[in-house]
Amino acid sequence: MQFKYITDNALPDLAIQEHCQCCDEYKAIYRLGREVLINGQWQQVDELCADCLQHATIEADCWLNIEAVQRMLNHYYPKGSFSKGSIDKAQKKARATAILDELLHTPTIVLELSDWPHCCADYVPFSGKVGRSYQGELQQLMPWPAQDADTEHLQTLTSLIAGEAPVLTFSCPHCGKRYWLCQPS
Ligand SMILES: [Zn+2]
Ligand SMILES: [Zn+2]
Repeated sequence: MQFKYITDNALPDLAIQEHCQCCDEYKAIYRLGREVLINGQWQQVDELCADCLQHATIEADCWLNIEAVQRMLNHYYPKGSFSKGSIDKAQKKARATAILDELLHTPTIVLELSDWPHCCADYVPFSGKVGRSYQGELQQLMPWPAQDADTEHLQTLTSLIAGEAPVLTFSCPHCGKRYWLCQPS
């Protein structure tokens, strides 16, 4: 996969043909919307080609930062827990740093990391947007967030069935579970 958190088959849907803001080549570019260091200066970059994205120095921000990744990991490895399969503080920090680095170099799918589904102690790769034809299957997908109240789940499903908002799907490479979230435009 070109990006750890986006399946290859979902990429064409995210790309537009444009001049890259960094290398100026006309090619497939992806949404970013973050501060990038270009020629020694921080610049707000809305779109970038995959090559530039993978090599860029990108700043963490209020939506995508180490604390958010650590909160996700704490969910799987609670603080002060030394049960089997747990990891220590240094390992957790290293894992969080690696995940953040990967996410910063991923086209922007959801702005806030707290919205991104996670499973098996990692974020779940985005596997594409779905349209109306997919709705029958949607109800079999796991709701996200899984712990949400039923009313919110129902409201989301109702708006999906009415076709009001695009639906993003995610599938976990470890356990095969699928997740979706509704992205109001
Ligand atoms: Zn470029
Ligand atoms: Zn999983």
